[in-house]
Amino acid sequence: MTQYSSNDLYDLDADLTPGEKALRDRTRAWVADTFMPHVNKSWELGVFPTELATEVGALGAFGCSIEGYGCPNIGARSYGLIMRELERGDSGLRTLASVQGALAMNAISFYGTEDQKQTWLPTMATGEHLGCFGLTEPGFGSNPGGMETIARRSGDEWVLNGEKMWIGNADVAHCAIIWATVEEPGNPKAIRGFLVPTDVKGYESSLIDGKYSLRIARTCRIRLTDVRVPESALLPGTSIGLRAPLCCLDQARYGIAWGVLGAAEGCMDEVRRYAMERQVFGRRLDSFQMVQGKLADMLTRLTKAQLMSFRLAELKDAGRLNEEQVSMAKYANVEMAQDIARTCREVLGGVGILDEYVVMRHLLNLESVATYEGTKDIHRLVLGRWLTGVQAFR
Ligand SMILES: Cc1cc2nc3c(=O)[nH]c(=O)nc-3n(C[C@H](O)[C@H](O)[C@H](O)COP(=O)(O)OP(=O)(O)OC[C@H]3O[C@@H](n4cnc5c(N)ncnc54)[C@H](O)[C@@H]3O)c2cc1C
Repeated sequence: MTQYSSNDLYDLDADLTPGEKALRDRTRAWVADTFMPHVNKSWELGVFPTELATEVGALGAFGCSIEGYGCPNIGARSYGLIMRELERGDSGLRTLASVQGALAMNAISFYGTEDQKQTWLPTMATGEHLGCFGLTEPGFGSNPGGMETIARRSGDEWVLNGEKMWIGNADVAHCAIIWATVEEPGNPKAIRGFLVPTDVKGYESSLIDGKYSLRIARTCRIRLTDVRVPESALLPGTSIGLRAPLCCLDQARYGIAWGVLGAAEGCMDEVRRYAMERQVFGRRLDSFQMVQGKLADMLTRLTKAQLMSFRLAELKDAGRLNEEQVSMAKYANVEMAQDIARTCREVLGGVGILDEYVVMRHLLNLESVATYEGTKDIHRLVLGRWLTGVQAFR
């Protein structure tokens, strides 16, 4: 019988090209050798070690799908494989890549001018410059269309005022993509994106303290007080309401659907090793039927999620990926990873709460991953609208 890797019963690895395998292995090795030795320290400090950003950039993790401007321009599956390996380390590490690449860099690439792209994308691809994506506000998360941040014209400048919440990397970013409502003739509440250098007067950011989840991510508030930027700060392609930010979010959600496979696999690897060695009632823990049942259920759920991600990659490369497919994979794969992390913690017993094991950190992180980029409720509403034609968000 062919012996497949314990997490790859359907032998999906065999479909990977040598280039994809090399990329995957390089990322996995960097995560294991460079990131993991400091993971518990970073968790304790509650911030991402930003000095590692250029090393993450060197892996090709920033702006994966962008063509030109020094960006990796790799296929959808390669992008997914990198996200999976980063999140095997920690969801905060994958979040860094999602915020930088899928959100900030894609916003510039999709909607920016040639000048904006030339100025920012090459140094963001290397990680020398960091970006953030300011959409959510204290009063508007699932419903960003209600946002109160406003941009008003003043001569040949724009003046921005408002508050953003939960914004990854905002305290270390060199540029911020700020989404704001703009009063325009014939379009009284248009939502547009602005590329704001964070050293501009009136831009303030502060880390949100007290997180029990995603601690290795810099999650911030932003306050914008009479921030004046020139006309050239507007992302000119963002003139169609929420479609522009949602399009960036879809790219990030695709990365999440792949990333959480890594978190789940990391938990399962650990629990299988543990259960093989742990003795209870005079026998190996993994020799009990109930434990084997849990392992089998986890592998089955993981395999279904892997198949979904591999298919998503084919659709993305073929230019046929749609919002509903991404919504389904985002919420279903995150839920899979949450359930697996929870079951693994249970199988580990008491030691499952210790930081020597990865599962508790993954379990806590996945609460954030389930919340950002659209909760399960929101993604089920997207699918409900597709099934029925009825919009039930409000
Ligand atoms: C760690 C972290 C990092 C983040 N990073 C970023 C970032 O970099 N940039 C950014 O812009 N945002 C970011 N976010 C914000 C994130 O996208 C929002 O938290 C998310 O969209 C949910 O919004 P909310 O927290 O305001 O919850 P709410 O919108 O207040 O939702 C509360 C509850 O109500 C439910 N609900 C809402 N609407 C409906 C409805 N119509 N029907 C049924 N149920 C509904 C939700 O599912 C949820 O359970 C981040 C969040 C976290 C936690």
